[in-house]
Amino acid sequence: MFPPTRHHAPVQCRAASWQNGAMFSPVSHFDLFCYGCGGAADLEDAISCARCGEPRSLRVHTLPAVEHLKTRPGSMWHYIDLLPVASPEHVVTLGEGATPLVDALQFARRFGFSELRFKNEMANPTGSFKDRQIAAAVTHARALGARTVAAVSSGNVAAATAAYAARAGLNAVLFMHGHAGQGKIAQAAAYGATVVRVDSPSPSRVFSLCIEACARWGWRHVSTAGMYEPFNVEGAKTIAYELYQQYEGRLPDWVVVPVGGGGLLGGVWRGFLDLQRLGLIEAPPRLAGIQAAGCAPLVRALERGLSFLDTLREPWPNPHTIAGGIADDILFDGHTALPALRMTDGMALAVEDGAIEEGRRLLAREVGLLCELTSAVVIAALPRLAEKASGARVCAVLTGSGVKEIGTLRDQTFAPPLVAPDIDAVRAVLPESVL
Ligand SMILES: [Zn+2]
Repeated sequence: MFPPTRHHAPVQCRAASWQNGAMFSPVSHFDLFCYGCGGAADLEDAISCARCGEPRSLRVHTLPAVEHLKTRPGSMWHYIDLLPVASPEHVVTLGEGATPLVDALQFARRFGFSELRFKNEMANPTGSFKDRQIAAAVTHARALGARTVAAVSSGNVAAATAAYAARAGLNAVLFMHGHAGQGKIAQAAAYGATVVRVDSPSPSRVFSLCIEACARWGWRHVSTAGMYEPFNVEGAKTIAYELYQQYEGRLPDWVVVPVGGGGLLGGVWRGFLDLQRLGLIEAPPRLAGIQAAGCAPLVRALERGLSFLDTLREPWPNPHTIAGGIADDILFDGHTALPALRMTDGMALAVEDGAIEEGRRLLAREVGLLCELTSAVVIAALPRLAEKASGARVCAVLTGSGVKEIGTLRDQTFAPPLVAPDIDAVRAVLPESVL
């Protein structure tokens, strides 16, 4: 059992059972694995490791043939043998995954890298990488016979949960943070979900509320927090599989990702471990996890040498950043995110809000990709990564679309001039650069 934090609900769920032991565990090619002590357990065992107390994660124990890793995916379900799904007929999909890898050579030179590519997760159906995780989580929920799914979100999980629940014919109840942007609330509500905003500065407090509601009303919890529900973070592994194929086996030196709870970082790392176990790569690339300076529990944990259980005892006080998608006060996936950095000789960096805004602006103007502020932390971190890794080949994951935050762009963009329908009137307002 995890040690109590100020707000923690006790974690008593089992990975493969739900609602009074309504067992559904035909995902027999998976077991549970603890990255804290290296111990394996059956899927029916408790999530908490009996030996060290850390949460266990799902792991493929029957590795598939590697043949299908040699053909290009049409969606992330190309890798169904590496996902915890019992049967293809359960799959709930909107075509998520198979996102582009965008080369940015000129941009790379600005920082002194030999190569810089962006994994464009904005191209997913609701505009963020969360579609991968929620597609897998809703698939699992439907296989369990759930009628209603519920999730905690600052925005992207809400949109994804609402969309995939609509696709599956399920109800969705979303607990959104009080600071969630209007655009993201509107996106989630547009799919017909029930949206509740919760007035609390602490994401872990909102999680406790959602877990309590799920227990009371029999909903399936699909939030992307592996310490509660390991099924819900599995979809992120497919980013690693796709990178392996898109780089034709020659993975970059560094993969850089934003970190809130750590599910993306831990998921990508575990995906690379699968490739290593399949004999396709010698070792995962080095990983960099980027946080906002106003909420940086992963950076603090590495600086102080904290264990995952240590981090739970001390949530980040008063998260405050414009990167709302990663303002998590505890590391909901620290049990995989911390070893991801420690085992790959990686690093965690915290960046200031001003640099995040400038990063979004630069990426849009010089590469043509408009990401959300949460994603722009990776751009803000590139100069500091370059200090350590000059000349390296780098891949940065752009997790969510800037279109979701169009309101914040309107605030910051000057109002274009309104002119008479006259060529001289147009000429009078044009900058010299376009003439
Ligand atoms: Zn353990």
